[in-house]
Amino acid sequence: MTNKKIVILGTGGTIAGTASNAADHLGYTAAQVGIAQLVAGLPLTGNACELMSEQVAQIDSKDMDFAVWQVLAQRVSHWLAQPDVQGIVITHGTDTLEETAWFLQAVLNPERPVVLTCAMRPATALAPDGPQNMLDAVAVAAHAGARGVVAVCAGVIHGARDVQKVHTYRLDAFSSGDAGPLGYVEEGRLRLVRNWPQAPVDKAQAAIKNIAAAAGSLPWPRVEIVMNYAGAGAAVVRALVADGVQGLVVAGTGNGTLHHALEVALLEAQADGVRVVRATRCLEGRVLPKPGDAIPDSQGLSPVKARVALMLAMRGQG
Ligand code: ASP
Repeated sequence: MTNKKIVILGTGGTIAGTASNAADHLGYTAAQVGIAQLVAGLPLTGNACELMSEQVAQIDSKDMDFAVWQVLAQRVSHWLAQPDVQGIVITHGTDTLEETAWFLQAVLNPERPVVLTCAMRPATALAPDGPQNMLDAVAVAAHAGARGVVAVCAGVIHGARDVQKVHTYRLDAFSSGDAGPLGYVEEGRLRLVRNWPQAPVDKAQAAIKNIAAAAGSLPWPRVEIVMNYAGAGAAVVRALVADGVQGLVVAGTGNGTLHHALEVALLEAQADGVRVVRATRCLEGRVLPKPGDAIPDSQGLSPVKARVALMLAMRGQG
C-alpha cells in the first residue's frame, strides 16, 4: 500500500529567515532558507505520511500580492487533485498569513486540509519556533477528517475566517477572537473544540475559474482600505476615487461608525459606482447592521479579509 502524501509548499517568511546573531529576533532577513532544507531538518521518523516539498515563492509576507496568491492557489489545486495527497502544509510569513488563508479558503474551499504555518523567530534563532509549528501543521494535515484552510501557530489551530495576527512579538501571535480556535495540537495529537471550516463566501467560488484560466493576465479590481478615526475626513476617499479606485473597505470605529465627513465621501463614491463595504477596526465582534444602512457590512470579516472578499466578488462577476 502506498503511503499518503503531504505536500509542503514554501512561500518564505520568518520561518525561512536567517540572522547573523542567533539571539537576534528582529534584525534578520526573512525568506532565505529553502523549503527542502526546512523539511529536511524536521524529526519525522515514524511518520505515516510521505512528505514532499515545493518552493512556490520566497518572500517576506509583507510583500504578498495577488500574483503570488494566484500561483499558490493553482499549486494547491494541482496537488489536491492527486488522490494520494492527504493534505497540504504552506509555510508563510505571519504578517499577511490571515489574508492568504482567507483567499485560499474563499477560492478553493478544499475538502482536504490546507494548513498554513509560520514562525515568529528566524530559522537560525537559539530556540526557533518554526520546526515545532511545522510538525504541528503536518499533524493537522495528516489528521483523518480534517478539511478546509486552517492556520497552526504555537500549538493552536485557527480557522481561515477568524484567524488574525494580534501580537507583534509573542510566539503565540494569533487569535480567533470571539469565535475561538478550532483546536490544539498536543504532542502530535489534535484536541478539537470546533468543527472544521465550511463553505465561505458563495460569490467567491466563481473566482477560481477565472484564476485558473487567467494565469495572471487579468487585472484584479483595485480595492483599498480606509479607516475612521477622530478627525477623519473626505480627502483620502476623494483622492482614491479620482485615482480610479473600484472598491473601498472602510474600517469603521466600533460598530462600523463613520465620521460624518468620511461618510459623505463614501456615499459619494458609492453613488459614482465604487463598491463600498463597512468593517470595524475593533479586533473582536462584528458590524451588526441596522435596517436602512446605506453601506453594507462585511459579514463579520476583518477589513483585510473584507477587501479580499470584495475583490473576489468583483472578479467573479467580471
Ligand atoms: N515579516 C515576516 C513575514 O511576514 C514576519 C514573520 O514571518 O513573522 O514574512
